[in-house]
Amino acid sequence: MEPKKTYVRPVIRRQFMGAANKFGRFSIPEPLTSIDGVEVEHLVKDYGSPLFVFSESVLRRKMNELNQAFQTRYSQFQAAWSYKTNYLNAVCKVFHDEGSWAEVVSGFEYLKARKNGIPGNKIIFNGPYKKYEILKQAALDGARIHADHLDEIQDLVKISDEIGKTVNLAIRINLDTGMYPTWSRFGFNLESGHALEAARKIAHSNGKLKLTGIHCHIGTFMIDSAPYKRAAKKMADFYKRLKNELRQPMQYIDLGGGFVSANKLKAQYLSGSSVLPSFDSYAEAITSSLYDSFSPEEPPPLFLETGRGLVDEAGYLIASIVGNKTMPNGHRSLVLDAGVNLLYTSTWYDFKVSPTKHYTGTYEDVTLYGPLCMNIDVVRDSCLLPNLHRGESIVLHPVGAYNVTQWMQFIEMRPAIVMITPNREVKLIRRAETVDDINSFEVET
Ligand SMILES: *Cc1c(COP(=O)(O)O)cnc(C)c1O
Repeated sequence: MEPKKTYVRPVIRRQFMGAANKFGRFSIPEPLTSIDGVEVEHLVKDYGSPLFVFSESVLRRKMNELNQAFQTRYSQFQAAWSYKTNYLNAVCKVFHDEGSWAEVVSGFEYLKARKNGIPGNKIIFNGPYKKYEILKQAALDGARIHADHLDEIQDLVKISDEIGKTVNLAIRINLDTGMYPTWSRFGFNLESGHALEAARKIAHSNGKLKLTGIHCHIGTFMIDSAPYKRAAKKMADFYKRLKNELRQPMQYIDLGGGFVSANKLKAQYLSGSSVLPSFDSYAEAITSSLYDSFSPEEPPPLFLETGRGLVDEAGYLIASIVGNKTMPNGHRSLVLDAGVNLLYTSTWYDFKVSPTKHYTGTYEDVTLYGPLCMNIDVVRDSCLLPNLHRGESIVLHPVGAYNVTQWMQFIEMRPAIVMITPNREVKLIRRAETVDDINSFEVET
């Protein structure tokens, strides 16, 4: 028998016209009552709000999808987890457990990877600033150092003298892939000959340095796979030149990161997943280009440093409504307990916003403000939500990439983070900050 419908008080509310645009009707958001089988309500009760939630199953699934897309097409493929995208140890350890190496861009991240048990020879060390002491440690550990500029190559010559050993390194390349603007500030430019010049410096270092690889990272959230095809071709040609002309012991090509996640850029009309390339389409573009370039030879090992594409969808943020207000123009808005302090990427993305219960009644276009006393603290300019009251929660998704590393302790403290395991256990992986935590850095005078 149908359960008896509960009575809902009728309300008269101003409806905003234009709830359809030329691409169709806006869709009513589906409620998200649980994450990986755990009720949102229980999570808030046990860990408070706001709360970041990571799904271990999604982390593992995405890592397997990436590995499968590349390993089925290319025998020598190795992923290295991009620490800056999310360096929570619990997240890194899941990726390492799935066979991923570490890719780091600072001394801090290098030490974090070492403390996670990753040996130097499975750490790719990128970035424009590597402090001398840490660079020396990385050289001693046999890390894969990717030089960004000539001063760094000079440092490595000195380090080679000090440790009395040849230092192997790769160089970062920037190149024209038809994507504009090009990221020309990192590494050595290919077309201008700077990259070749840097390689010559290494080749003529009296055996102190040896060039073993080339690296590029052409952009982030790349909504087209064609630039990877062009990058792979140019990198392959350069690789062959370094090997054959400069006689360097070349061992790998690293094509960096940049794959999309199912997020929605503010400028996009359609929702994320319907228009974006899959790992398979990037893999097809890259590996076919490498096979063409190296044929009939076996192409060299390929490394990738995928960040966002692996972790974004595994992260959720539960936030609660702390206030409800009507703006002077009649538009409704909600004040949340989480804002741009926790969601650095809200500048670029319209996260999906889901209510956490089934609601009857109408949905209305609302603005979501954060808790900060700052005009810029807007989480969504406009999204469709039911009539939510103070204390009720919503879920923002996907927020796993770049938020829990770029978040700021500003006005508010940072909240707890939990991970849900494949058998529905909830593990606290980072506790909420306290005033004493923050005070502990200050020195009493
Ligand atoms: C940030 C970064 C990555 C990861 O980029 P995504 O766009 O998150 O995949 C990889 N390599 C380098 C050098 C980076 O700086």
